[in-house]
Amino acid sequence: TVETVPATFKGYGVDSPENWNKPKLVEYARKKINPKDVVVKNVCCGLCGSDILTLKSSWGEFNRKDQVVGHEIVGHVIAIGEEVTEFKIGDRVGIGAYSSSCSECSRCKSDNEQYCTHGVGTYNAVDTKADNYETQGGYSSHSIAHEQFVFPIPEALSSSDAAPLMCAGLTVFSPLVRNIGYDATGKTVGIIGIGGLGHLAVQYANALGAKVVAFSRTSSKKEQAKKLGAHEFIATAEDKNWTTEYADTFDFILNCASGIDGINLSDYLGTLKVQQKFVSVGLPPVKDTFEISPFSFLHHGSSFGSSLLGSKKEALEMLKISAEKGVKPWVEEIPISEAGCNSALTRCDNGDVRYRFVFTDYEKAFA
Ligand code: NDP
Repeated sequence: TVETVPATFKGYGVDSPENWNKPKLVEYARKKINPKDVVVKNVCCGLCGSDILTLKSSWGEFNRKDQVVGHEIVGHVIAIGEEVTEFKIGDRVGIGAYSSSCSECSRCKSDNEQYCTHGVGTYNAVDTKADNYETQGGYSSHSIAHEQFVFPIPEALSSSDAAPLMCAGLTVFSPLVRNIGYDATGKTVGIIGIGGLGHLAVQYANALGAKVVAFSRTSSKKEQAKKLGAHEFIATAEDKNWTTEYADTFDFILNCASGIDGINLSDYLGTLKVQQKFVSVGLPPVKDTFEISPFSFLHHGSSFGSSLLGSKKEALEMLKISAEKGVKPWVEEIPISEAGCNSALTRCDNGDVRYRFVFTDYEKAFA
């Protein structure tokens, strides 16, 4: 029951941006449990590029001196608030990058709850419905989220395979299905940046029936991109003629890169068919901006946009497709510890992961 949930949780937290890759074991008071909240004992958590950008303060300051990140969480329900209807104790569930919203606005009521202007991030956010609690992520023993932001994990997926789907998977699945639909036969899709998000985007675009072209800066991921389901591969820093060769090709381009070096937006816009869209889910440090002239959009009537996570409805569809079609991340498991966090954060920052770290062995670390 709610009464038996420990008053404090444990996690690996960072005190300042200088120590972004040196989380220490910390203990902190938990958030209060609201009537629609689900309390989860975590079993694993993926490492998202956003964790690094947050801890380095690349998107702005973080508030706590014990900031715990991680928003690709899988665990078991150990308690539920009195108004929870979708889950029971013992269920295996996941939590992504948001953990609650107002539940009342037009966005919340139209399967766009991730765009609620009162949404609360799973970490480094202020939860006004919980005494302004400053939220803590999933490199931790437990997590608490509103049931709308908790997803049941299908039997067919292991916990480590399911974890990266909670953020990376959903973030690419939502813009894909909103732009190319659930049957993308005959459509050509470009995926830029073959990292945690991109390697799942290649797989989902392929599973939806599209012809997939992977863009990476170098050719080092060529063979793996083909194994993931890319029909063609372009190394943008090496293939000199791709902008001409691929002119008027794409029905949709999804940018999953965490930086903007080497991404010439005009070049990509020129490869879109008439009135198609380039969507960037990649979020570089806030100081980095795309430079673009309105003329770059003119001759193909193209659009530029973005996309935030995905709705619960889409999460359930994504998990079903993953279970049915075997779409899953390529995972390197790392037992969670101070040294494990240090190694995984540093290696991910150096691009040294194929393609997602998942922290495991929570039972031992948080005994
Ligand atoms: P990863 O580090 O796993 O992958 C990022 C990829 O981007 C790399 O593999 C690389 O691909 C490419 N890349 C890295 N640095 C640069 C650079 N300087 N210039 C161009 N390309 C670069 O990160 P994730 O996949 O976890 O996250 C990707 C981005 O998505 C991040 O910015 C993250 O914050 C954001 N994100 C956005 C969400 C949303 O809702 N919109 C949700 C979750 C994450 P390659 O080697 O193939 O070129």
